[in-house]
Amino acid sequence: MQILKSTEELQIYRKNIQKKVGFVPTMGALHNGHLSLIDRAKKENDIVIVSIFVNPTQFLPGEDFESYPKKIEADIEICKRSGIDALFIPAINQIYSKDEPKVCAPKVLGYTLEGYHRPGHFDGVLSIVLKLFNLVKPHNAYFGKKDAQQLILIKKMTKVFFLDINIVECEIVREANGLALSSRNTYLSKEEKKKALNISKSLTNAAKLIRSGQKDVKLIKQEIQKHLKSLEVDYIAIVDRDLKEIDQIISGNSIILIAARVGKTRLIDNIWL
Ligand code: AMP
Repeated sequence: MQILKSTEELQIYRKNIQKKVGFVPTMGALHNGHLSLIDRAKKENDIVIVSIFVNPTQFLPGEDFESYPKKIEADIEICKRSGIDALFIPAINQIYSKDEPKVCAPKVLGYTLEGYHRPGHFDGVLSIVLKLFNLVKPHNAYFGKKDAQQLILIKKMTKVFFLDINIVECEIVREANGLALSSRNTYLSKEEKKKALNISKSLTNAAKLIRSGQKDVKLIKQEIQKHLKSLEVDYIAIVDRDLKEIDQIISGNSIILIAARVGKTRLIDNIWL
């Protein structure tokens, strides 16, 4: 596995590849969710490039940019063992300069849900993803459904900027108890983890309700709410694949999204129906 630290090294590496390239962008503190994206990329491409970059522009003032979990030595080992071809770990000054153009998230799609609670977050997400796409020039890029709105916005950006990149949607990986894997789970104490489990429980319970015939969004939301009493909920949303609010569940075109705080940790989870 090649470790590439500068954009120049990456560009030279990329120029010499004629085969199909799969790309998995991450912020590190790798877990099995990231590994599932890597495994899929390995199956579907000749060469797999992973990036680890804690992107400052997607954090708002007061968020956890400084304290975001960093485990670079362990991450390098995980990547080596996973059999990827190259790992791109740039420093911030390799990626950003002062006063530069950036991508603006769409005014509606980028400022609802996560974007409402973290205004400007998706400007940062889209800017870094576009930069990484232009450096890596992947055929396929892998993103988790865990970050549903991010995935939808990246697909939209790829489409409207006519990027010739296939965005691959990957399923959410969970602990056996249901908790969606996240680098931020390392912030949780034992007690908090127990509380956090209510998020995934409320989602599986909602899915069960829907399977038994309940389609009324208002009632489903009320059921979810009951499970989340011990948490500070940012939002419970039931939307279609364009993130538009719906009144009735449409099978194959609905997503239930939850964002909630457990202590100081903000968690998101969702289920695609
Ligand atoms: P992050 O390092 O948190 O920015 O995540 C990098 C990529 O991994 C994103 O596409 C995430 O959606 C994806 N990801 C994070 N957690 C999970 C998970 N539990 N299951 C599947 N994909 C995930």
